[in-house]
Amino acid sequence: MKPLKRKWAQVSLALHYLGWGLFVVVGLIFSDLLERDFNISSFGVGMLGVGLMLLGPVLWRLTARCPHCGKRGGPLSWVYKKSYCSRCGHVLSFDDGPVHEEETPLNQRPRYRLKRGWARLVLALLIAGLACMAIGGLVFTLLMPQPQNEEEFWNAVETSWAVRDAAAYSFLAGTGLLIAAGVLTRRLKCPVCCQGFAVPWQRRGETRWCGRCGAALFFEDELEYEKI
Ligand SMILES: [Zn+2]
Ligand SMILES: [Zn+2]
Repeated sequence: MKPLKRKWAQVSLALHYLGWGLFVVVGLIFSDLLERDFNISSFGVGMLGVGLMLLGPVLWRLTARCPHCGKRGGPLSWVYKKSYCSRCGHVLSFDDGPVHEEETPLNQRPRYRLKRGWARLVLALLIAGLACMAIGGLVFTLLMPQPQNEEEFWNAVETSWAVRDAAAYSFLAGTGLLIAAGVLTRRLKCPVCCQGFAVPWQRRGETRWCGRCGAALFFEDELEYEKI
């Protein structure tokens, strides 16, 4: 069984936070300075930030596999913390962790029911947020006028401002929706340890194991929900 490598967890986290840094600090706070004094497109830097933000978790999915069931990804942390595979519930072994960690047998773990309504809301916000961001990006790349000479530039100036504003607002709305989704995921927290999460796209009747304490998390069945 091959343990997961801490090195890749650290690279993924570093890329992710570097992306956030670029997006917030450079793209939003210093955007005017960048465009006026250095002639660098703040939108481009912001997009690069978003790209890096997404690249981190993607890299982790590509490099980490559960040694028991082969599930990709898993809890991501800078130093060793005992963590469980969400699909098979076994402890994930890392190359910087103990060779053998104790674990409670799966059928003796606590089981917790979560409300499906919150999961639906989080999922809807996530999709809407990503759609707004994608629309912002598309509006900017497809509709932005590309003036060839100075005269065309001055004719297109108002259009380009309008396009840029539309793209920026759509992008910000998307960011807002994603933040709202992030805040609401606390409703999907594991009730035992308050650290692990159930995922909003978890299917009915499917059990996922909390990544931090190994408890079984599942959503109440639709029919049961109506009865309560
Ligand atoms: Zn597994
Ligand atoms: Zn837990």
